[in-house]
Amino acid sequence: MPSSRTARTPARQASTQPAIVWFRDDLRLADHPALHEAVASGRPLICLYVLDDKTPALHPAGAALRWWLHGALADLRAQLQSRGGTLLTLAGSAEDLIPKFARNMDAASVYWHHRLHERERAQDDRIRQALEQQGCEVRTHWGTVLLDPDLVSTKQGGFYKVCGSFWKALQTHAVPEPLGIPDMSSFQDVPESVLQDVRLNEAELCPQAPDWASGFRTTWEPGEAEGQEHLEDFLKDAVAEYPRGRDRVAEEGTSRLSPYLASGAVSPRQVWAALQKHGAHTDGPRIFLSELGWREFARYTLYHLPQLPFENLSPKFSGMHWRKNAADLKAWQRGQTGVPIVDAGMRQLWQTGWMHNRARMIVGSFLTKHLLIDWKEGEAWFRETLVDADFANNAMNWQWVAGTGIEATPFFRIFNPTRQAEKFDPDGDYIRQWVPELRRLSGKALFEPWAAKEADLRQAGVVLGRTYPRPIVDLKDGRDRALQAFRAL
Ligand code: FAD
Repeated sequence: MPSSRTARTPARQASTQPAIVWFRDDLRLADHPALHEAVASGRPLICLYVLDDKTPALHPAGAALRWWLHGALADLRAQLQSRGGTLLTLAGSAEDLIPKFARNMDAASVYWHHRLHERERAQDDRIRQALEQQGCEVRTHWGTVLLDPDLVSTKQGGFYKVCGSFWKALQTHAVPEPLGIPDMSSFQDVPESVLQDVRLNEAELCPQAPDWASGFRTTWEPGEAEGQEHLEDFLKDAVAEYPRGRDRVAEEGTSRLSPYLASGAVSPRQVWAALQKHGAHTDGPRIFLSELGWREFARYTLYHLPQLPFENLSPKFSGMHWRKNAADLKAWQRGQTGVPIVDAGMRQLWQTGWMHNRARMIVGSFLTKHLLIDWKEGEAWFRETLVDADFANNAMNWQWVAGTGIEATPFFRIFNPTRQAEKFDPDGDYIRQWVPELRRLSGKALFEPWAAKEADLRQAGVVLGRTYPRPIVDLKDGRDRALQAFRAL
């Protein structure tokens, strides 16, 4: 539901005063309730994005996300230009820029979608107050979730702490139908003087020297149409097989929609509606939708438990003695742990900005259990390197993997990376792709080169400690150490 707390003063009714749409993590034209309402106001439109590294409510955008943003902003601008408008991109403190810009443009109203975390909401409230004080109306909508999180509550009026119950409760509500692209006909020109010193230098979003993004460019094309294409292709080719395919790390068994959802090129309501149309009752679509349920639950949890990205949700872990070992952390980050399935996942991440979900679970378990390193280190690295970096999903999943969350896998359930590789990369294709120095190994030797016969290694051209690292931790010792630390809690 739209909300507005400002009574408009008659003096500011002139329809020549522009309406500003403030784009954030909703970089699309379709199913954009804020844009829709702004267009319906009949006022000339100004479309705006602010990259805020000065007063970010949570963290500044990581390097991989910046690369993604570069393409996503260009796509949105091109779409607006084809309709006679443009997208202005500014850099600086949103708290300063938005009210100042609205004042300079004598804007009548500003439209945006709610954010979830209490710090984000507090910041939005401050911006709202500043705008309202200068007589500018603020209109807000839910545009990045399926439903307003306040609508889904327990019988006692509290919030759900288990995803299954939350998802069941959410589905008793009607999810709004996605909106189309509104018919935009009138845009407001913005004089260069207003933009001086605050224009975002978009080229700086991309890496210069070294240019580490070549693997990103061959893997991804940011943009709204590309996001829709991913969704359509997935529904056509892979959703029926999703219950099996989603765990096969070498296959394209998942939708790869995550960066499009994270940047808002695709909305969750569009995905929901497409699945309903496709027939959500068979196993593939139903299980796929339940993953969208995890996304929604992560946002819902971030909304209700703002400590999610910062603290163990299970207080038992406040006394946990995590190891601080910079060398082990670096080996994990660079995919040089000597454990092939872990290294494959970490290198896929480094080279493409994305990692398969099963691999994320394996590398997460390895970091927090075999290496006994705090999940916050993993969360920070993913935040910097994922094109789908997303505060809610990232923090909730890290807490799930580490066993520190509210609905998490128990800490003592420790993934054995070799068993995981045998099960989910049975032919070793994923390891061979991302750890090419092992590609001539076969069978068990590929999953555990440290246990391979010397002759097999020699034949495959592998020299442990030289062409590929010896494991930085003995899997059994690492497991025992983790269990001991857990018992000591
Ligand atoms: P699909 O299997 O096709 O799923 C469709 C969509 O459902 C995804 O795009 C995503 O939006 C949502 N989804 C799927 N699995 C999950 C999940 N476990 N939790 C929440 N939402 C889910 N996802 C992010 O979007 N951003 C992150 O920063 C992120 N960090 C993660 C960190 C760890 C340690 C782990 C284990 C998982 C993380 N995930 C994150 C969740 C998941 O790995 C990705 O969403 C998924 O791999 C994206 O690929 P896909 O779009 O092909 O997924």
